[in-house]
Amino acid sequence: RVKSGTKNDFMVFNKTIEHQSIERRLLENAFRIALKEEQFYLEYQPKMDMKNERIMGMEALVRWNHPDLGMIPPGKFISLAEETGLIIPLGEWILFEGCRQAKQWQEKGLENLIVSINVSIRQLEDPHFIDKLKRVLEETKLTPKYLELELTESVLADIQNTISILQEIREMGVQVSVDDFGTGYSSLSYIKHLPIDTLKIDASFVRDIHVNEESRAIVRAIIHIANSIGLKVIAEGIELQDQAKELCTEGCKFGQGYYYSRPLKVEAFEKFIQKSSITT
Ligand code: C2E
Ligand code: MG
Ligand code: MG
Ligand code: MG
Repeated sequence: RVKSGTKNDFMVFNKTIEHQSIERRLLENAFRIALKEEQFYLEYQPKMDMKNERIMGMEALVRWNHPDLGMIPPGKFISLAEETGLIIPLGEWILFEGCRQAKQWQEKGLENLIVSINVSIRQLEDPHFIDKLKRVLEETKLTPKYLELELTESVLADIQNTISILQEIREMGVQVSVDDFGTGYSSLSYIKHLPIDTLKIDASFVRDIHVNEESRAIVRAIIHIANSIGLKVIAEGIELQDQAKELCTEGCKFGQGYYYSRPLKVEAFEKFIQKSSITT
């Protein structure tokens, strides 16, 4: 027991460290409970073929609805999940749930949409990642070509054996997209050697493409590179018709953003599909 004379010093000295570690432990605990009690769920944001405004797939985006704290955005918990390693079980759940849902939609007769799932660096570094991916595909019976993994450019630059992991993923028939493209520092020759399918133009270039000549030039260059090495291109963060128009003019085929739809819960997503199949 601490004597009363030293107690205050002791407490002051430890306050910040203790505070941080308690906060961290609380959050970690909340996280484990959340996983068990299914407080996480996925929303799906349509990915569009911009010319005919038809849906071609959807990105799964994780949501945390905490009973006391309410909605916690992924920007607030993904990095914590990465630091604590809890992204491994969470990421596995996301992968499984996204594939399960995509398969269920296919069985319901909703066209053969491609589901895109964000994968974090810690997951890719997990030596069991490939096995887990195989198991999820087996268990959900989703045809691999209807699954796409979104990996950020910085992740691809950071991991050791990027190329061999990507090769294994693609040998399974799963597609790979480079998320937030243009924000990292990959050289073009590096991109050329990566076994990938799609470049996803970062929202920061889309935001002012209709008013800023530099952003437009960058987008044009990315599309040019993609075309010349046989990659698909999609733009993210499209909020305005003007942005969509400019992207189309520059030859970008696919797009995603609030202009087409926000990320939607399962039911709303099904309504969105019904509506868009009536109008096309
Ligand atoms: P991201 O993968 O680049 O996802 C795009 C983000 O932009 C999403 O935010 C999406 O809701 C938002 N967004 C889509 N269209 C628009 C638009 O037109 N305007 C604006 N302002 N925003 C738009 P969200 O859902 O908050 O996710 C943020 C980031 O968190 C994601 O960026 C991704 O890096 C990460 N994340 C989300 N879900 C997952 C997941 O299931 N697994 C992993 N590992 N990371 C995830
Ligand atoms: Mg993404
Ligand atoms: Mg992105
Ligand atoms: Mg982004």
